[in-house]
Amino acid sequence: MPKSATKDLLSFIQASPSPFHCVEESARRLLAAGFKEFRDSDEPLSVEAGQAAFVKRAGSILAYRAGAISPAAAGFTILGAHTDSPNLRIKPKPDLGRHGYAQWGVEPYGGVLMSTWLDRDLGVSGRVHVRGSDGRPKARLFRCDEPIARIANLAIHLNREVNSKGLKLDFQDHLPPLVGMGSAPAFGKWLSDELGGAEVLSWDLGLMDVQPPTMGGFDESFIFSPRLDNQASCYAALRALIDAETADTTQVVVLFDHEEVGSRSHSGAMGAFLRDSLARIERHYADRCPGGMERAIPNSILVSMDMAHGIHPNYADKHEPKHAPILNGGPVIKEHVEQRYATDGETSAWFRDLCSSQEVPVQDFVIKSNMQCGSTIGPISAAELGVRTIDIGSAMLSMHSIREQAGSRDTAYMLSVLKAALEGGAN
Ligand SMILES: [Zn+2]
Repeated sequence: MPKSATKDLLSFIQASPSPFHCVEESARRLLAAGFKEFRDSDEPLSVEAGQAAFVKRAGSILAYRAGAISPAAAGFTILGAHTDSPNLRIKPKPDLGRHGYAQWGVEPYGGVLMSTWLDRDLGVSGRVHVRGSDGRPKARLFRCDEPIARIANLAIHLNREVNSKGLKLDFQDHLPPLVGMGSAPAFGKWLSDELGGAEVLSWDLGLMDVQPPTMGGFDESFIFSPRLDNQASCYAALRALIDAETADTTQVVVLFDHEEVGSRSHSGAMGAFLRDSLARIERHYADRCPGGMERAIPNSILVSMDMAHGIHPNYADKHEPKHAPILNGGPVIKEHVEQRYATDGETSAWFRDLCSSQEVPVQDFVIKSNMQCGSTIGPISAAELGVRTIDIGSAMLSMHSIREQAGSRDTAYMLSVLKAALEGGAN
């Protein structure tokens, strides 16, 4: 199980170079497992107990298996994660020509660890809107795995203090990748040619590393991969839902876009996607069990999954000494007294109990008291819904690098705990 789950995670990430691809790969796996697809405007979301379905909204997706008992009585058990990762997005008018080179204008999406994007072989991926055969805009997924672009470093001879003083990058001037010499086609023309001559109306595209994910290290202890934050969590949540047995509680997985830029969007965690989808699921039971959402939410729990900072042996002083998770050490519970993470004593106890029932080790993270803490979808959804929430994740290194690092044994740990959570419910 450990290795096969990790290999499956790597193929999930390889199939998901953008949030839109991540949603499509998730949908493909759900359909193969017998889940029914609803349109986002269907009402209610109605399947019988034990049956399963999903609904997509742009770069977000929500999947569920209807519980044997109504959500008002048995609650929702929700696993949440995010589909987006920091990268460089292509501007609407990207064509630049300087000193004989063809270049593209790009801008950072989220908190990119920028130095890692230099001297990499870069492709392009995301969503394109083209004019369909009926004359109306039509969305198409797009990926180019060829190394078509590269952001070249400046030679050390022209930047002699770079190793001692650090790399300073001006995001406007220093990020445009080189894509060819003077004769390279305009971006829109190239895109149209790649899409068989379609009329391109707009795009949501970014650069991506074309190097596939891999396991590495002696005895393959590690995963080296793009987008582990947070597709490792997306994969674990989705796979746990697919593998779980029907329970009293309604099992839900929600994967949101736009976490890396604050979650404020029509499909992000700050929007109504989760709340409205749960209400649409709950209405299927409305005439059999009174109380509705007002009863369902207090009976529910949200496991907000995002990657955690593992301790780095070369920078160990960056961690609180007693709260320093390691790779392959099992799920990490993240706490923050000012609610940058939504965990509290009640949800922490519930999760620790699950881990011990599965004989899975569990770790703790709090930020050092003199450092600022990150955040994720947990506190946002907790506040939006009023649902008890825990923030957890697997430990990793190089977060927000173009190529991150995690432990190869944590996938299986996470899967067994999440499956137990979905089958056991909150109460
Ligand atoms: Zn994240």
